[in-house]
Amino acid sequence: MAEDVEKWRKACSISAQALQHGISLIKKGASVIDVCNAVDRKIVELGGKPAFPAQISLDSIAAHYCCPHGDKTIFDSQVAKLDCGAHVDGIPGDNAATVDLSGNNSELVKASRNALNAAIKIVKPGIKLSEIGEVIQGEITSLGFSPIRNLSGHGIDRFELHTRPTVPNFNNNDSTVLSSGQIIAIEPFATTGEGIVNEGESAEVFMLLAHKPVRDAAARKILELIESYEGLPFAKRWLIADFPQFKVELALRQLQLTGAVKGFPPLVEKARGLVSQAEHTVLVTDSGCEVLTRLS
Ligand code: MN
Ligand code: MN
Repeated sequence: MAEDVEKWRKACSISAQALQHGISLIKKGASVIDVCNAVDRKIVELGGKPAFPAQISLDSIAAHYCCPHGDKTIFDSQVAKLDCGAHVDGIPGDNAATVDLSGNNSELVKASRNALNAAIKIVKPGIKLSEIGEVIQGEITSLGFSPIRNLSGHGIDRFELHTRPTVPNFNNNDSTVLSSGQIIAIEPFATTGEGIVNEGESAEVFMLLAHKPVRDAAARKILELIESYEGLPFAKRWLIADFPQFKVELALRQLQLTGAVKGFPPLVEKARGLVSQAEHTVLVTDSGCEVLTRLS
């Protein structure tokens, strides 16, 4: 890990700049897909590759909204969460922020941001995961909202966006401790709803899980493109840029049936509450932590 720290800093710096760029473009009347594409382009301009397609989840969609091909969604008065990350040689960054376009939900935005800042303040070797969760929960409930309990932060590693440990958004009594040199993403979600998300319909973001043989020639071509994402998540519309839509749909269905590819549907708050999110990737140091995705 140590020899790779410079790569982590680079990937996370690109992730942070791309996030800032995207946030600056979120305005009433702008199109969601244009902003997502601009974020992905910014990552490439800065010398990285998207670690996953930029996602903008609106209102009660908490995460994993990835624009379909030809998406016409326009920003209006929503609570918009932008989640993006770059990778450099497979080393990924992951960060997110929320923009309140409604003008009525600044406290909700503040709740997840405060929770993230409070968590960052206590991260150090020896801290229990449950203590991080407790601080996040405390900040969010003190403003009158609920943390989303079945969404969490996570370990992050080369070509692995989500690995152990699970970094909870509430006190889950996990007494596992962090140690120096670990890299984790912390991502509190605050909601006006129940604090639970369920899977919505039709995934637009997918990931290669296993290399399995494919008989169909067209599906095999599509699989070659999927393999170029090196096991990291990709958008269905990235494939539709190169192949006819019906062939992409068919190939993805086949690949999901064999277990080669997994789809990630949007995650929707159970009571249709509004949701805000804040996220940073941090390196646990001897004395605390270094926020890798903070703009310097
Ligand atoms: Mn994350
Ligand atoms: Mn993220």
